[in-house]
Amino acid sequence: MYDYHVHSSFSSDCDADMKDMIKKAIDMKLKEICFTDHIDYDYCDPSISFDFDLNEYTEYLNEMRKMYGEKIKILKGVEMGIQPHIIERCKNFINNGDFDFVIASLHTCEKKDLYTGDFFVGKTPKEAYQKYLEELLYCVKHFDTFNVVGHLNILIRYNDEVAKEKIEDYFDILEEILKTLINKNKGFEINTSGFRYSLNDLMPTYSVLKFYKELGGQILTLGSDSHIPNTLCQRFDYVYDVLKDIGFKYITTFEKMEPKFIKI
Ligand SMILES: [Zn+2]
Ligand SMILES: [Zn+2]
Repeated sequence: MYDYHVHSSFSSDCDADMKDMIKKAIDMKLKEICFTDHIDYDYCDPSISFDFDLNEYTEYLNEMRKMYGEKIKILKGVEMGIQPHIIERCKNFINNGDFDFVIASLHTCEKKDLYTGDFFVGKTPKEAYQKYLEELLYCVKHFDTFNVVGHLNILIRYNDEVAKEKIEDYFDILEEILKTLINKNKGFEINTSGFRYSLNDLMPTYSVLKFYKELGGQILTLGSDSHIPNTLCQRFDYVYDVLKDIGFKYITTFEKMEPKFIKI
């Protein structure tokens, strides 16, 4: 298996040492683990800094590769928090980072936090969903230095009313987002962290995966969004079943930002 969304103590919301993540991954016989620690520039909550020292990150990762590289392939990634006004800054950081893989994630919308719920205040569920997808569309149109969009419909993780909305009602704008990704040779991840929240489903869900397939989309990575070793590759068997059912034959891995297709 290939887990392409894994955090370590380089993320401010994670205490797990890379070493412990890797040891668990080796026990589980993963072929590849890609660390995607958080960078969120200009985050709306100034009390938390989602940032890490790139040199320290690279050094420690290389040390891990020396120690465990024969047992598992360790990839250097980042989960980049994207906002329309910081696109240039993100691009510069990534261009100097020598990354294997970049996830572009929206953790905020209109400069307001999704996690704390600030963004949802004063909006109907429909307005919130629409606004979120508009900002995502803007970002995928104007930002190029990434490989996949992270947890595509994450906003449902943080608001129960919005979670009741049917994503099919937003397929017009979603079509634009997916077509933009396909044209840029990018994709999105299937994030299984919803199984740790009340969602109990994939992000994004079956209908979006099917829609993506119909539009010709091919690039898909799998990510558990683990912050502890025990959730690595959570429910990946189920994801494979879903993908096969829809007709996908491959999942995607990355090295030096170049996609590779792995038969499932
Ligand atoms: Zn995220
Ligand atoms: Zn994450």
